[in-house]
Amino acid sequence: MSQPRGQVPVAVVGAGPAGATAANLLGCYGVETLVIDRDRGIVDYPRAIGIDDESVRVLQTAGLAGEIMADAIQNVPLKFFGSSGRCFASVQPSVREFGWYKRNIFLQPLAEAALRRGLGRFPHVRTWFGTELTGLDQGEDGVTLHLAGRDPVQARYVIAADGGRSGIRHHLGITLDGDTQPRQWVVIDCAADPVDAPWTGLHCDPRRPYVSARLPYGHRRWEFMLHPGEDGESPAKVTELLGYHLPDPASAGVVRTRVYTHHARLARTFVAGRVALAGDAAHLMPPWAGQGMNTGIRDAANLAWKLAAIVRGQAGHGLLASYDQERRPHAKAMIDLSVMLGRVLSPAHRPVALARDQLLRAASLVPGAADWITQMRFKPRPRYRDGFFTGPDAGAMFIQPMVENGRRQRVRLDEALGDWFAVIGYGCDPLARVDTAGRALVELLGARVVKIVESRAGDARRDGRRPGLCVIEDADNILRGWFAARSRDVAVLRPDRYVAALTTQRELGQALADLESHPGLARVPAHGPR
Ligand SMILES: Cc1cc2nc3c(=O)[nH]c(=O)nc-3n(C[C@H](O)[C@H](O)[C@H](O)COP(=O)(O)OP(=O)(O)OC[C@H]3O[C@@H](n4cnc5c(N)ncnc54)[C@H](O)[C@@H]3O)c2cc1C
Repeated sequence: MSQPRGQVPVAVVGAGPAGATAANLLGCYGVETLVIDRDRGIVDYPRAIGIDDESVRVLQTAGLAGEIMADAIQNVPLKFFGSSGRCFASVQPSVREFGWYKRNIFLQPLAEAALRRGLGRFPHVRTWFGTELTGLDQGEDGVTLHLAGRDPVQARYVIAADGGRSGIRHHLGITLDGDTQPRQWVVIDCAADPVDAPWTGLHCDPRRPYVSARLPYGHRRWEFMLHPGEDGESPAKVTELLGYHLPDPASAGVVRTRVYTHHARLARTFVAGRVALAGDAAHLMPPWAGQGMNTGIRDAANLAWKLAAIVRGQAGHGLLASYDQERRPHAKAMIDLSVMLGRVLSPAHRPVALARDQLLRAASLVPGAADWITQMRFKPRPRYRDGFFTGPDAGAMFIQPMVENGRRQRVRLDEALGDWFAVIGYGCDPLARVDTAGRALVELLGARVVKIVESRAGDARRDGRRPGLCVIEDADNILRGWFAARSRDVAVLRPDRYVAALTTQRELGQALADLESHPGLARVPAHGPR
């Protein structure tokens, strides 16, 4: 798609986890991108330590999961301790439905450094670190970015990933609705970990709730609620707080200390014209569910392919509206979960705390309720109610089991599908009964067409393939069960691995026609790119 001279297709403002993930994905999709951050280095104060399966899957698409997870501790339990110090609930999900463990502990500065290094892989992604955005104007065809010490830059679309205090959000007049919590917390990261507790502990002591978490490389995170008037950053207070738990707080090797106020806030819209808010610029939540950065990474995954499709002419500008439609309610659900966990962690009164301990201990003895806690079913599912998909069974993230690719290598599903659209048929060529209009849409979307065969189906079952059909094997027979449970055999998968349509070989043509009439594809020519 041609751009006016000097106009960059996508500019990303802010290279924190949300912006840098989006820029890496745009790099993978081959989109010319400009990344701007006012800081040359990365934020090194204590922030995220929990990264979930959905985020790691996104990093996998960006080609960075291996590097980032090499610095992480995978599959870490989360334990809740009551006022008496007894554990009353334990969360350790055993399933890896999206290909990765649900609870992993990492160090945000190391991951951010890997994300920034990742940008160097793409000659079409330029980085201007040490460059501050001072303002922006939107016109019919694009956005003008005003930068300190540089000439203005034109972009067709802008991702505003400029953090919780987003100047862009402010400039656009988008309000951040919600609450700011009255209590402050101090976060203390230590280089030494004398505590034998290889989990994340939420200690729900009404006198002073605290969090204690083992971090990679022998570090430990402590977070303590502060009472009014306490100076959580003073060395004496830090020593006092650690002294309740460590025999020798001086040897804990305090690396950083920072006091935080917690917010539960959501931007009124995630999209204004050609600008889309992502990450903390769009939502702020207390850290108890470990979902702030994860929610931002999900924004990045949702937004990057949509902008890539729009600037490449595979979709219309209308597709951007589905970003707000899909991501805003999901981010709200994560805020609500974080607030709810905060209430469990720090109830206002001791009797409430005792009742909570008893209730959750009793729940952990009831099989269904125990599973809800242990398997982390309280976390909102990656599923959208409205957006770019068709049919009541679509809109959820597709599973990611192991498969055998055409070269007989055992890989995660997404590695076999590639990083863009895919149309997959279980035991069938999904396009076998699709007419030319449907095939033209599949071609326009650039979808990989895949036949999945049973594990050890033998070469005979792989034969008879037509050119352009890729055959992969369902290594652990998980996909067979998934499709059988839904009585369908074909799925259209989006680049972010959400299901755009779940159907049968016979009805795929109709599902493709429905997708084609979605407002997101409205300006796309009906039969292939012009
Ligand atoms: C104590 C604590 C614990 C947390 N724990 C977790 C956790 O376990 N799991 C989790 O998922 N999340 C957690 N979070 C939240 C997580 O750290 C944030 O959600 C995440 O860092 C936000 O990323 P972002 O990319 O949206 O914004 P940021 O990381 O804030 O990045 C914004 C970037 O924009 C740049 N910028 C700003 N303004 C301009 C401008 N005008 N011009 C150019 N550049 C600009 C900044 O320099 C910065 O680099 C925690 C947070 C805290 C404070």
